This record gives sequence, structure tokens and C-alpha cells, in this order.
Amino acid sequence: MTNDNNKKKRSLTSKIIFGMVAGIICGLLIQNFFSHNQFIDTYLVNGLFDVGGKIFIASLKMLVIPLVFVSLVCGTSSLKDISTLGRLGGKTLAFYITTTAIAITLALFMGIFLQPGAGADLTSAASFSAQSAPSLGEVIVGMFPSNPMAAMTQGNTLQVIVFAVLFGIAISLAGKPGERVANFFSDVNEVIMKLVTILMEVAPYGIFFLMAKLFTGLGLEAIANLAAYFLVLVAALLIHAFVTYSVLLKVLSGLNPIAFWKKMKDAIMFAFSTASSNATLPITMETATHRLGVSNKIASFTIPLGATINMDGTAIMQGVATAFIAQAFNVDLGIGDYMTVILTATLASVGTAGVPGVGLIMLAMVLNQVGLPLEGIALIMGVDRLLDMIRTAVNITGDSVVTCIVAKSENEMDVDAFNDPNAGEIELAMKKSA
Ligand code: ASP
Repeated sequence: MTNDNNKKKRSLTSKIIFGMVAGIICGLLIQNFFSHNQFIDTYLVNGLFDVGGKIFIASLKMLVIPLVFVSLVCGTSSLKDISTLGRLGGKTLAFYITTTAIAITLALFMGIFLQPGAGADLTSAASFSAQSAPSLGEVIVGMFPSNPMAAMTQGNTLQVIVFAVLFGIAISLAGKPGERVANFFSDVNEVIMKLVTILMEVAPYGIFFLMAKLFTGLGLEAIANLAAYFLVLVAALLIHAFVTYSVLLKVLSGLNPIAFWKKMKDAIMFAFSTASSNATLPITMETATHRLGVSNKIASFTIPLGATINMDGTAIMQGVATAFIAQAFNVDLGIGDYMTVILTATLASVGTAGVPGVGLIMLAMVLNQVGLPLEGIALIMGVDRLLDMIRTAVNITGDSVVTCIVAKSENEMDVDAFNDPNAGEIELAMKKSA
């Protein structure tokens, strides 16, 4: 690691922070002082900021399906023993489901104990359409693509994962031709990862545009009206992130949580500004493989799977929101109802992808199951965008924690790289590698 590279890395992180803070300030200034300025509205907010932000998100999403497919094919085809896959899958799923259950239980406890909905103002008229949670059978059948190309074009990550795993297994069993195909995919993987790092270099601008546009229209007064809900939810998210994850990481893998948090900074900022685990996936992958020292074999499987099925932050929102809505509407929920909330929210988080606002759709499923009025969603919708950003950051952190724990237990982790503060810094993307 050269000193130059270290400086480059440090400056990238601080540039991202700078872009984010500058965007927030710029958005708030426009909202408060220039909200009726036609020029600013047309050319800046709905012009430059809007277009710049959309291009940034599109470029991130552009990488998701190629990255998931190619890296997973590489990961699976390099497994020496196919039975490893079963063990890996079982372990990962068990951790994802357990962390989600812990998350939602914590949220329910805090929601019930702190009573954020007691005496809430119920003057919202907006409505929300009902959805029902997918059944376990539907979730499982829905994972198998009848047409892998359609799965890719529709961005169905779970189906792409299944196809990539089967394709990778076939490569590893196909002898010499398999080796040739594997080499090809390994090269493509390198190229895609390079594209990720190039994108990270322009991220400060993209994040600036996203934040500036968002904060121009973000109704902060709604937060004041729902302060109790907002604060309890944020507290639950922070406790789960900093306490649950740090303890799990330390106890189950012996890894240093502080080193972990330091390396997660960039990915967390991406998640926060895009409010999408899916769009952040390329950065979470880059962080896991290059900075946290997890082998591609593990990360290529656990990270895309996590971005789709593991949403601890979203589950926390389900818990606090359900308790809040029950209190606001004076409905008494029994222990059976709370168990239903835990089950439905966990299942719904498996069956829905990590994109902005999906938490509200899941909440509709949860409320339906326990017979709470869906109008409750309209109560909290006004503050959801900011909370979505925070819970998305928790979602991807949860994926990364489980990834580290699984990798460590499988001996697929470079602990020196994990502990090296400079490992995996972004190289000058435009500089050609030797
Ligand atoms: N935006 C979240 C994510 O992508 C999902 C949600 O909570 O709405 O992870």
C-alpha cells in the first residue's frame, strides 16, 4: 500500500461526506429561501440535481445484475466441494433470519415500552392499498426462473442468484471446458469491479445531487409532528446497528467491531443517500471483498442474497410502526398478534427486494395480517423517506456483518486485511494497472 493511495482513499471518503453535507445544506437553503424562484426550481432542482441524481442511481443499478451474476458464477465455480454450498447457504440463511427476528423483537419491545403512538394525532386522510404477504411456497417457487434472461431484465435478484449458482456448479463439474469458462468469468469479474471503483470516484457528485434534490422537498415539519415515532425508530435502528451487530461480530467471529465500522463508512453513505440496498450492492460487494477481506466465494453469495432477503432496518420499522399504529388507533394487540408481526415481517422481507419505500409495502402486509387499519400508514408516510435512508444503511450493514461471520467461520477471510486500515483503498481508477 503506498502512501499516495492512502491519501487517495482518505480523500474519497471525505469527499463523499463533503458531497453529502453540501447537498443537504444546499437543499435546505433552497427550501427555506428560494422555494419560489422559477429559475432555481427549473434549472437547478428539477434540472441539474434531478438529472444528475437519476444518472448516478441508474449507473449503480446498471452494475447490479452483471455483478451478481458474474461474481456468483466465479464464487460457485471455484468451490472445491459442492456440499460446501449447502452448508454455506444454510448458515447464511440462519444468520439472516435470526438477525431479522432479533431486530423486529427489539423494535416491538421498544415500541410497546416507549409508547410512541399514545395520543398521536389521527388527522390523515391518505389511503394505502392493501397487499398480502407472500406465502412461503410462493417465495420459494418464485426463486426459480423459468427464463433467466427475463429474470435479468426484470432485475429479479433472487432468480439471478439461483441461476448463477446452478451455472457455477455446472462449470465446476464440466472439466476443461468448465475451466476455460471460469477463467473468462474471473476476468469479467475483475473488469466489473474496476467499473465499481470508477463509479465510486464520481460518487461525491452523485450523492450531492441526490441530497440536494431530496432536501429541497423534504417536509421536516412532519418530523416534529411525529417526533416520538421518529425518535423511537431511530433509537432502535442505532441500538441494533451499534450494539447487536458489534456484539455478534465480536462474540461469533472474534473480529474487532471498530475496524468493521471504519471500513463500512463509504457503503453506509451510499445506502443512506440512495435508500436502496440494491443500488448500493456494488459498493457493499467492493467493501466486503476488498476492505473487509472476505473471499469472493462467500461475498458473491451472501451480499446479493442479503440485499434481497435480509432487511433488519426495515424489520425494525415494521415493529415500531405496528406498535405505533396500534397505539394511535387504540387497538390492543396480544402476544399472538406480535408473533404474527414477527413472522409476517420476516417473510415479507424475504419476498421483497431492497428498493426505496418497499418497507411501506411490507408494512401494509403486516398490518393486514393483524387487522390494523391501513390508514395508519398514511400517518407515518410523511417521515418515511428520511427513515428509509437510515434503515437502508442498517440493512446493508447487517448483510456485511453476517458476511464477515460466515466468512470467518469458513476460513474464507483475510483477517490481516480486515485489520489493516488501508486495505482495499480505491486505487486511481483511471490509472491503468500494470
Ligand atoms: N429502502 C430499503 C432498502 O432498500 C427497503 C425499505 O426499508 O424500504 O433496503
